[in-house]
Amino acid sequence: MLKKHQKKTGTSSYSSFFNCIEKNFDKATKFISIEKGLLEQIKACNAVYRVHFPIKLGKEIKVIESYRVQHSHHKLPCKGGIRYSTKVNQDEIMTLAALMTYKCAIVDVPFGGAKGGIKIDPQTISIEEIEKITRRYTSELIKKNFIGPGIDVPAPDYGTGEREMSWILDTFLSIKPEDVDALACVTGKPISQGGVRGRKEATGLGVFYGIRELCKMKKDMSSIGLNVGLVGKKIIIQGLGNVGYYAASFFYQAGAIIVALAEREGAIYNEKGLDVSEVILHLKNTGSILNFPKAKNIENTEKALELECDILIPAALENVINKNNADKIKAKIIGEAANGPITPEADEILEKKGVIIIPDIYLNAGGVTVSYFEWLKNLSHVRHGRMEKRFNENMNSELLQVMETTCKKKISPDDKKIILRGPREIDLVRSGLEDTMISGFHTIRDLKISLKIQNMRTAAFVLAINKIVDSYEKLGIFP
Ligand code: GLU
Repeated sequence: MLKKHQKKTGTSSYSSFFNCIEKNFDKATKFISIEKGLLEQIKACNAVYRVHFPIKLGKEIKVIESYRVQHSHHKLPCKGGIRYSTKVNQDEIMTLAALMTYKCAIVDVPFGGAKGGIKIDPQTISIEEIEKITRRYTSELIKKNFIGPGIDVPAPDYGTGEREMSWILDTFLSIKPEDVDALACVTGKPISQGGVRGRKEATGLGVFYGIRELCKMKKDMSSIGLNVGLVGKKIIIQGLGNVGYYAASFFYQAGAIIVALAEREGAIYNEKGLDVSEVILHLKNTGSILNFPKAKNIENTEKALELECDILIPAALENVINKNNADKIKAKIIGEAANGPITPEADEILEKKGVIIIPDIYLNAGGVTVSYFEWLKNLSHVRHGRMEKRFNENMNSELLQVMETTCKKKISPDDKKIILRGPREIDLVRSGLEDTMISGFHTIRDLKISLKIQNMRTAAFVLAINKIVDSYEKLGIFP
């Protein structure tokens, strides 16, 4: 029965998106014996800032609706992206902020969760106008102390990227020039503005590492009738933004078959596989993925989710898999690259069908993990690897000389080149990301097995809640 204040929506019987995440949270609490009050504190959003500001767009003055939500202050700064979309609303941003808290806990990134949003369609307004809005939004955040290297650190999300992060930094710098750590007030910046190598592709690469790890597990794979490994696996990716695009490229390079790609305007399908870089070229030339010469068009983009495949990767917006289409999904694995793409009702239907779902709060944590590396770089004021690269190369060279003299054998110049190389920033970032995603996967899987939890999402929530509880207890707030 629905409660009085709940209204049934087209895709979910829950009154709100936040309600959906609460439902996932509550499922996990059955496996945790913690005082109710503390669980309520973890669930609640600590601070919600909604601001309307006027902007002159063309000849008209428009009122812009925007948000920044800090879900949890158990660790500071708060961290999370800023999205630009016409669908932005308080409930959505609160939910996404909550997901950030759990995400950071799972991958051991020492931040509380946050999220921001501006209700605009960046595709219908000019770059100058987007810049004006971004700068004004940043000043509003500064005014209320909702941004800063130790307070709250935004990053890119749906509809934003390096360009917007640069404007945020520049606005912050112009108001707080005395802050020596100002570069760390935002992540996802271009390299020239203090960004870190490997941030752009981090979420997509993290998605790749997480799914690859599952596909290595013989037991899990045989439970759904698949072979181990990625080679030959049929994959559908919904959303070709930054996350979907990089995920598609990494799976393609690893030998998986990308059978369908879906975008807002429609989807394209080829049973034998799509060459991702060719599709991107076509998209750049024509402005759409449709009419790609080596594929069939699917006008109704939602139908692409229901096609035959092994792995389905929703990489766009929330609630795309819901009670209306869950039963028609044919994938055996769903990797949640987007935040909240599956409603709780759909979750139950898919679980009954035996689909393995790798949850968002783990799978798309690659972005914030590398944001953490960028933040550390900005606070230390030195590029990762700068201090040790040459030292390692010299040590390796000495080691090689000893080996050659001891073994009385020369190592080939090509092998030498590989062995001698010291780590560059991109090497360190990638290996840190890979290690985070692999160990995160196994921690969740081991917990799932040891506590006999039905699915990875509940196990991931149990892991996150336990870590946050531990942090609150050590803080001494609950003696
Ligand atoms: N927007 C991304 C997310 O949802 C990245 C957040 C960040 O790097 O802070 O995880």
